[in-house]
Amino acid sequence: MKNVYGLTIEEMEEYFLSIGSKKFHAGQLFSWLYEKRIESYEEVTNIKKEVLEAVSHDYSIAKLKIVDVQEDVDVCKYLFELSDGEHIEAVLMKHDYGNSICVSSQVGCNMGCRFCESGRRKKVRNLETYEMVLQILMIEKLLRMRISHVVVMGIGEPFDNYDNLIKFLKIINYPKGLAIGARHITVSTCGIVPKILEFSDFPLQINLAVSLHAPNNEIRDKIMNINKAYPLDQLIPALKTYLEKTNRRITFEYILLSGINDSCECALELAKLVKGINCYINLIPYNETNNLDFKRTNTVQIMRFYDILKKNSVNVTIRREFGSKISAACGQLRSKKEEL
Ligand code: SAH
Repeated sequence: MKNVYGLTIEEMEEYFLSIGSKKFHAGQLFSWLYEKRIESYEEVTNIKKEVLEAVSHDYSIAKLKIVDVQEDVDVCKYLFELSDGEHIEAVLMKHDYGNSICVSSQVGCNMGCRFCESGRRKKVRNLETYEMVLQILMIEKLLRMRISHVVVMGIGEPFDNYDNLIKFLKIINYPKGLAIGARHITVSTCGIVPKILEFSDFPLQINLAVSLHAPNNEIRDKIMNINKAYPLDQLIPALKTYLEKTNRRITFEYILLSGINDSCECALELAKLVKGINCYINLIPYNETNNLDFKRTNTVQIMRFYDILKKNSVNVTIRREFGSKISAACGQLRSKKEEL
């Protein structure tokens, strides 16, 4: 059965028309679902009983199950069980500017980045739109507070689940939906070029982050399979097109992996690669996992790398670390649960 939390406002309007009812019920139902946060259709008072019966017949209002929570000072990690028994994770991070949540987009991932825990399990399926929306809704309910920022950086490649991602973005941005401002939403991709180009026509002002992780094809080929399909000489021009069309800025994520991509030469090459691109680089200290052999770069070298970028006029930040104590790096909680 389909789930009501997967409908955009337009789809819900169409649905009400299709059952011979009124379009404006969509706005009403949205407000019951997302503003008043009902648990059952019985709580709805301004839509006729017969109409509600049809809705409940066609769309489930079931939520997801939270089966594990791990808490640290500034981070909290949630393990969800889906209706088919699969597990996904979401992570809540507490910043001084508000709460952000990191949402998963797939069960498993096919991108095969060598350093990433999530990719050790191949994609089982895409998440449905409602399964993405409910990650936010359930955490807000549990904490009794609003989440101000969303990043689609959990398990999965969002651009490999493009249509559901777009619907998810529309629902969480809609004023009567979760009303999260587009500028507070970030989608992170490993670099699926055709989807980056498609996304440049998406009208909402969502932020785009790109997992770069290497300054040249030789290194990127070794750690990210996607680079064989879409090497840097395709990725960079696609990003330039995206920037021209949207007038925005992109974020490059760059995990520092000891001895792989963290030399001073790499930093210089990286500065050259991004020259003239309206971007900033987020350097990420690698979160080591027991299952993979990559090592994190030491702090001295991280600072050297940072300084070289700065000296070459690159906007650069070092990502603050959350939750390394509680296996908050992508995929770590789920893989513990399933003992892969
Ligand atoms: N598939 C998307 C989004 C999910 S991964 C993408 O590739 O962008 C989100 C980010 O976490 C990516 O930049 C990814 O490279 C990074 N990441 C994966 N494993 C990590 C680890 N162990 N430590 C730090 N960052 C990691």
